[in-house]
Amino acid sequence: MTVLWRDVFTKHVIVQGWKYIKISHANFCVQFARRMSRCEKPEDKEPYSHISIITPSHVRAVDGVLAPIEGPSESPWGNNTASQETTQPFPVRPDKEILPDHPRPYTAIKSYHAHIYFDEDNYKKAARIRHWVIERFPVELGDWNTEPRGPHVSPSFYFGFTTDLFPIVVPWLQLNSLGLTILIHPNTGDPRSDHLHYSLWVNRSQPVNAYSWRRFEDGNEKDTEEVNPNIDPTVVLES
Ligand code: ZN
Repeated sequence: MTVLWRDVFTKHVIVQGWKYIKISHANFCVQFARRMSRCEKPEDKEPYSHISIITPSHVRAVDGVLAPIEGPSESPWGNNTASQETTQPFPVRPDKEILPDHPRPYTAIKSYHAHIYFDEDNYKKAARIRHWVIERFPVELGDWNTEPRGPHVSPSFYFGFTTDLFPIVVPWLQLNSLGLTILIHPNTGDPRSDHLHYSLWVNRSQPVNAYSWRRFEDGNEKDTEEVNPNIDPTVVLES
């Protein structure tokens, strides 16, 4: 079956191998066979093989059913993924049970971290926040991380602060983020949950790659990250 594309000039098509290309030429002719899609550019006869159009209504109009490309699958996942049963993933919550029997006491929080994320375009905002923090808060200030580090998927720096500073530092960061994304997480001896489930965000959240970290077990608390302030403030906090 042949379909003239005179009126369908700009379409995304998907090429075998999952590369996207865009057809913007007016005179494409697409020939559909049931097991093969093929597109030719008439004037130079350059073939564009293995092209399936991903505009379902158009495809349905051509042949009713979009058939797979003939031949053995080259997918690393093989040919049986469609028959897999739906399974429940391992719970992401910190308790072994899906619904914990008891809440965790808030006193499990021993300190907090604030991770300020930035990139090559807005790093000067991060520098301004860092400078303001150094002037005002007795915190544990970490290094500049100009590459993703640990679970943090973009450049960042962090400072740690004690729980008594929470009602001051968090509102201060809300007002002084300069639009940057900031992760605030507690330290409870369960770093995985601290980063994935107990977090607060200023502005947009972003992925935190801690899913492979060790799950919480009783006794982990001894690993609770300590905060040892290394900054002596010099400026009276504005209020
Ligand atoms: Zn942290």
